[in-house]
Amino acid sequence: MTTPPASSSSKPGDADGTITPRDLKLGTLAVHAGEARQKPGDSITDPVFCASTYTFENTQSIIDFIEQEQPREEYGRYGNPGERVAERKLAALDGAEDAALFSSGMAAIVGLLMAKLNAGDEVIFFDECYHRSREFCSKHLSRFGVTTRQVKTGDFDAMEAAITPATKMLISESPTNPHLSCIDLEKFADLGRRSGIETLIDATLATPYNLRPIDAGVDYVLHSATKYLGGHNDLLAGVVVGSKEALEPVRNLRGIMGAINGPQNVYLLLRGLKTFELRMQRHNENGLLVAEFLENHPRIERVFYPGLASHPYHDVARRTMRGFGGLVTFLVKDADWRATADVIDAVQIPRIAPSLGGVESLIEQPLVMSYYKLTPEERQQFGIPDNMIRMACGIEDGEDLVADLSQALDR
Ligand SMILES: *Cc1c(COP(=O)(O)O)cnc(C)c1O
Repeated sequence: MTTPPASSSSKPGDADGTITPRDLKLGTLAVHAGEARQKPGDSITDPVFCASTYTFENTQSIIDFIEQEQPREEYGRYGNPGERVAERKLAALDGAEDAALFSSGMAAIVGLLMAKLNAGDEVIFFDECYHRSREFCSKHLSRFGVTTRQVKTGDFDAMEAAITPATKMLISESPTNPHLSCIDLEKFADLGRRSGIETLIDATLATPYNLRPIDAGVDYVLHSATKYLGGHNDLLAGVVVGSKEALEPVRNLRGIMGAINGPQNVYLLLRGLKTFELRMQRHNENGLLVAEFLENHPRIERVFYPGLASHPYHDVARRTMRGFGGLVTFLVKDADWRATADVIDAVQIPRIAPSLGGVESLIEQPLVMSYYKLTPEERQQFGIPDNMIRMACGIEDGEDLVADLSQALDR
């Protein structure tokens, strides 16, 4: 199942005109991996095939397609040519065998868990995972007889103690949002392997540039491609990477769920991925610059950034990460929620919005943006104080971002 007409196999790096990922570095893979060297129409870019269905020449060609499992398209809900290119490219970036692309990050995690879990099974989360992922498990998978346990982030003893014979998956994010706690991936993968349980890391905040969970032995890596992989705040997509065998039932379920990207959306993702490495370098630079500026500012109580020596997970981050990303979380000293909101309302470059990982910097107050309807006790339980600000550094000039924060804090 691959791009017609130039290639004949979906394995990345096959003798089908696509390049071999193993030999090449990330920046080259982001530009070239997964693509046929010679494309339809002799175009340098992969064409957008606006088709919901694909035609057969005659009845015999349908029978051949089914009997020989021929690599070609059939109906749009099961895949489209651009999507297969994006899947090969994303698998190559993570050093994984295969990737399944979904219409959003949430569709990807829902698809993976629905394909892998049965009634009576249990999953264990580190408790700083993306709240919608945990909500899907605790509110919805529970209706199908799946039990969700949550243990304190980074507490491997608690995770091991929570394992029962029914446990089927261990799940964490690294780094987590908004506290940016980092997980020792080798310990995590090792616990899964010793216990015969599959492991999943949501590496959305890190990306394959900063974190290599597959190399550490983790079974599945999830990315919301809406964030750094798409990179331009203009699309939603999600991907799960892993072994070909493990992802086959996931892709089959996706064909039933219909959680697939349209051809134009895939084109935007492929276009965004071309500059992936360059963008990540700038996100990392800006994140560190902003974090260091804030840490030394008299109006700042505390900065959460894994690249700072003051961060509780700095050692894990230094061992596992190449750079520390664009997300910076900080607390404004002696500020109530309104004084904190005043800082956000005074910045001029970052836009006020949820999300992260795009070229435009974004800023938000978690209390207002994501936790407004919760009680103060619940917010405390999630570690969300009133004076917390989360800034997702884009790719603007770092000194401009610092100067803008400086004027907003000096008001
Ligand atoms: C945004 C996000 C998701 C969900 O992705 P969508 O593309 O918005 O569905 C999952 N995990 C993390 C860490 C995220 O930041």
